[in-house]
Amino acid sequence: MTAFKDLGLAEPILRALADEGYDAPTPIQAETIPAMLAGRDVLGIAQTGTGKTAAFVLPILNGIAGESNRPAPKTCRALILSPTRELSAQILENLRAYARHMRLSSTLVVGGVKPGPQVRSLAKGVDVLVATPGRLLDLMQSGFVRIDRTTTLILDEADQMLDLGFLPAIRRIVSHLPEKRQTALLSATMPKPIRALAHDLLDDPKQISVAPASRPIERIEQSVVMLPKESKKDLLLELMSDRAVERAIVFSRTKHGADKINKHLVNYGLKSAAIHGNKSQSQRVKALDGFKTGSVKILVATDIAARGIDVDGVSHVINHDLPNIAEAYVHRIGRTARAGKSGVAVSMCEPGEYGYLRDIEKLTGLDIERVWLGEEADFLAEAKRATPAASQKKKSRPPRRNRDGNSGGRPQRNGNSAPAQARGTGGGRKRSRRRSGQSRPGALAG
Ligand code: AMP
Repeated sequence: MTAFKDLGLAEPILRALADEGYDAPTPIQAETIPAMLAGRDVLGIAQTGTGKTAAFVLPILNGIAGESNRPAPKTCRALILSPTRELSAQILENLRAYARHMRLSSTLVVGGVKPGPQVRSLAKGVDVLVATPGRLLDLMQSGFVRIDRTTTLILDEADQMLDLGFLPAIRRIVSHLPEKRQTALLSATMPKPIRALAHDLLDDPKQISVAPASRPIERIEQSVVMLPKESKKDLLLELMSDRAVERAIVFSRTKHGADKINKHLVNYGLKSAAIHGNKSQSQRVKALDGFKTGSVKILVATDIAARGIDVDGVSHVINHDLPNIAEAYVHRIGRTARAGKSGVAVSMCEPGEYGYLRDIEKLTGLDIERVWLGEEADFLAEAKRATPAASQKKKSRPPRRNRDGNSGGRPQRNGNSAPAQARGTGGGRKRSRRRSGQSRPGALAG
């Protein structure tokens, strides 16, 4: 096995890695670090949890460790772009930890907070700037930062930047960078526009792929509860009241839904907080800090807010709503079972979401263990009524993203009758037989 010291990293960095307790590079680090140290561009397919942050941060630090000149005013030597404020803040936190035995100036430029302090910290110039694209462009246009001397560019979670509509901003930013630079692009998935971006921005990149997004981590016990929509609230309380839950993330497809779920949990006396794009930056920081320190046990989140968040000790991931994009399922459940631990992922599937479950199983190649709450035949009949509409929609337009105030791209039933429900859940839970040996046995809450 490769050791960090064999990768050619400077001594202060090796010391910081020892402080962090890292024994050996992860696979993406073992491949990316030497390539970047040799000056190559990198195209990496990797999710959070693989150690990808250190993979691109450590070579940047190594370059800076050998620099004796200060950066010029209003410039940065290296620029790291990421899609969300939370992910950018996390990257900066890691960067500073790995640079603790070096002299390094670094700053964060993200939206949702006043620009004044960011402008002041950029005035003298910084070694590394971690930014989200929108705010960076604003500050560039106002003349507070220039990137014409930036020699390293990292694009992290590029597919998420695409989903958030950042590609035009990225192209504009890149047009201000010097031609001669080193670029690394990391993405959990490689949709066509990202491949095209990589083709335009990278020069003969080393391609590195670890743990494809379609394969969830094996240590996660997955199960899906097939239930009428109306039973979701009670099941959530039941799951969250279980003592085995140390820290849980509950996913909602919509911001509005996340608020409702959170209110429900708080009203029941559970320590819960919501995190999504409509929350202010300070609310998001407070919720996330509370979750890290343990004062908040349950974080109710939308996909975008949770993407890339790396909090240790998440014992459970609950999908209150199934995602309408199958890959999001893999990202969601990857919030648990980090750092070698195991984890539990329980999804709730109402009849109108059955198509999403099938998409997820197709992508992952898994037969997720099913637990039936209510009658299977009623569920399937209801799902069938919803499915023709779903498949028509799929053919005629691209998948819809989360929207506030509605229940996502789910096909609508006529009226709010709930036939599956009305017959109650008196039959109790019926464990489904596993359809193949691929999936690990799921568990409801333990
Ligand atoms: P990332 O994929 O960058 O979000 O990293 C996921 C987690 O792995 C973070 O908590 C890192 O601190 C941790 N990590 C990164 N590299 C290593 C390593 N070589 N050994 C152990 N843990 C690591």
